[in-house]
Amino acid sequence: MSIPEALAEINRRIQAAAERAGRDPASVRLVAVSKTRPTSDIVEAQKAGQTIFGENYVQELVTKLDVLNDTVRWHFIGHLQSNKVKFIAGRVSMIHSVDRFSLAGEISRHWSRVGKFCDILIQVNISGESTKSGTAEEDAIQLAKDCSKLPNIRVRGLMTMPPFFDDPDAARPYFAELRRLSQTIASERIPGVEMRELSMGMSGDFEAAIMEGATLVRVGTAIFGER
Ligand SMILES: *Cc1c(COP(=O)(O)O)cnc(C)c1O
Repeated sequence: MSIPEALAEINRRIQAAAERAGRDPASVRLVAVSKTRPTSDIVEAQKAGQTIFGENYVQELVTKLDVLNDTVRWHFIGHLQSNKVKFIAGRVSMIHSVDRFSLAGEISRHWSRVGKFCDILIQVNISGESTKSGTAEEDAIQLAKDCSKLPNIRVRGLMTMPPFFDDPDAARPYFAELRRLSQTIASERIPGVEMRELSMGMSGDFEAAIMEGATLVRVGTAIFGER
């Protein structure tokens, strides 16, 4: 399947899942995960109407940024080292993977330097697997409170990666738990913190995530093929 065909198919499945969940399909946005794929793949997807692209590695993202500039909305979705934040300051519109206060502080500092605000999501390790990044579920509220005091970041929601299952429905309890946590944090009414985004669901389980309230689905392989 070509990239435009795959994109059309994913968008059709997103719409169908949203309708099944009784949700407005426009409330779910597709992040096309283009890590390891050449810039030409991104351009092809762009021509087919895709606007948001997700990248995991700073060095790779910077190379692509230099080619594509502001024609793309970039979301950073991978593990982020504090000492690399400076390379992407002001150049991505959202960071999905904030899992510690020290990282949030660095993001705020560098975005302040370029006179911008960065939208961030707090990554939560719902399953508690030691191999997964993300803050522990019980620490997420405090992290949101601490982040709300930083001048140049805006907390906009939560992100998670559930364990891998062959059956996508097996991931649903983890997605549901992230939604409940987001409601709990919203009920705290922390100034400046908005729980409007739930980033959850990948190629194998995005429909299950949409059933549980995902607003951002991060899909790579199903658009661009195996990495
Ligand atoms: C690679 C990656 C994805 C996309 O995974 P696919 O299975 O290829 O759709 C989504 N989210 C994160 C954080 C990733 O690293």
